[in-house]
Amino acid sequence: RELPGDPRSDNIPRQVLHACYTKVSPSAPVENPKLVAWSESVADLLDLDHKEFERPDFPRFFSGETPLVGSVPYAQCYGGHQFGSWAGQLGDGRAITLGEVLNSRGERWELQLKGAGKTPYSRFADGLAVLRSSIREFLCSEAMHGLGIPTTRALCLVETGKSVVRDMFYDGNAKEEPGAIVCRVAPSFLRFGSYQLHATRGKEDLEIVRRLADYTIRHHYPHLENIKKSEGLSFEAAMGDTPAIDLTSNKYAAWAVEVAEHTAYLIARWQGVGFTHGVLNTDNMSVLGLTIDYGPFGFLDAFDPSFTPNTTDLPGKRYCFANQPDVGLWNIAQFTGPLSAADLISKDEANYVMERYGTKFMDEYQSIMTKKLGLSKYNKQLISKLLNNLAVDKVDYTNFFRLLSNVKADRDIPETELLVPIKAALLDIGKERKEAWISWVQTYIEELVASGVSDEERKATMNRVNPKYVLRNYLCQTAIDAADLGDYEEVRRLLKVMEHPYDEQPGMEKYARLPPAWAYRPGVCMLSCSS
Ligand code: AMP
Ligand code: MG
Ligand code: MG
Repeated sequence: RELPGDPRSDNIPRQVLHACYTKVSPSAPVENPKLVAWSESVADLLDLDHKEFERPDFPRFFSGETPLVGSVPYAQCYGGHQFGSWAGQLGDGRAITLGEVLNSRGERWELQLKGAGKTPYSRFADGLAVLRSSIREFLCSEAMHGLGIPTTRALCLVETGKSVVRDMFYDGNAKEEPGAIVCRVAPSFLRFGSYQLHATRGKEDLEIVRRLADYTIRHHYPHLENIKKSEGLSFEAAMGDTPAIDLTSNKYAAWAVEVAEHTAYLIARWQGVGFTHGVLNTDNMSVLGLTIDYGPFGFLDAFDPSFTPNTTDLPGKRYCFANQPDVGLWNIAQFTGPLSAADLISKDEANYVMERYGTKFMDEYQSIMTKKLGLSKYNKQLISKLLNNLAVDKVDYTNFFRLLSNVKADRDIPETELLVPIKAALLDIGKERKEAWISWVQTYIEELVASGVSDEERKATMNRVNPKYVLRNYLCQTAIDAADLGDYEEVRRLLKVMEHPYDEQPGMEKYARLPPAWAYRPGVCMLSCSS
């Protein structure tokens, strides 16, 4: 109600001008929808009784077939830079917000159905989602939360009972696939592109940028609400010097700094667990610093800085693992653009926002890597030598760090036994590489001895930052293959394992294994933007 909406409420593709959203109802074809899986912890966020999930009509509500009482569904209007180029209006092309739930703790959670049918923002596409990509989004939302990484959540996953036609990119043939809908949950789904779009549409729409900024601060950054924008020039500015950036005088600058810092924190956490988003366009960047829009994402198996899970991104590798921190900065620059255009922040403030992104990223990244090694102070050389070794020998990123906590702070271990604790991760290294690893472990042990922390304590703290289980692509694929045949048990089991990725979980060790040979066959685990 506070933001300008589209006067029309149909779902005919169009440019929606001067509006932040369009009221539009779910319209995906549904027939006997089935509940594939649901998250207990998200149900608890919404104060939703677990018994509700047993209701035979439950999938009807969460496929959009039956409207929820009091819901006024809408789709958001936003734009974005895709692979570095401005793409104009994008918007929720297949996501429809049902409304917000205010829980008993006073938190507001927005519920959104992804794959619920066409909206004015669907452009040339069908507004639907297939089971395979919906399973991936559902599981990874909850896996990221389990890892302690900010993310949109997923309440449930419903199979619609109707099929969807998709081009299978690896053989070029159109195939029918089962349709599905994920119910996503977050405090807000606003993206960088939500602010960008209005700033490209002429002077009068800059007022929409201002109103959207006010809305965002009031609802999602309320602690900044009472910062007043200072009137007139500061003393330094009047004297022609660069004004000192004073975040207590402009709430929009203070807000932009927080967005930058949340983003930096998020990406540092991704690097820590080897997560590659795959499509870091500015329409996929949450203004709350949440991981959002799970598509062709991937966790590293063998360490490879140039890893990109998205075949659409293969030529340029713009969004590969090692580029994510820089892409985050580039995206922040696109976010501050509209704020500058709307006169909410100055040029100096925009530069300062970028600077704070860099500082925050380095602080967090160094802190995460230090913790992953179980050290008390950052050691740049030790870490870069390690990453180099991991890359040269294509060592599994997750399993290596998990095993590393078995190294003892003992200088007297004979050279022949130095690699024993981590040897399960170094199976393939040749004789000529052994020396590099021994030398690294020796330096590492020196650091461990200097830190003075007991082996037991270090192992416990390291295991709280180095997950045993991550949602590897092949694990998703196994669950997808079973679900395609109507067996949802593997999706549910995988959810349970990924909810506690730092626990040993005896009996579940197979979920920590490296990808099997079949996972490398062409077409099996390949992913693209098409989903
Ligand atoms: P993505 O690359 O998945 O972030 O999507 C980019 C844009 O395409 C967004 O505006 C999406 O809403 C839209 N989009 C993606 N898939 C579909 C689909 N099947 N139907 C309609 N819109 C879609
Ligand atoms: Mg998107
Ligand atoms: Mg997507």
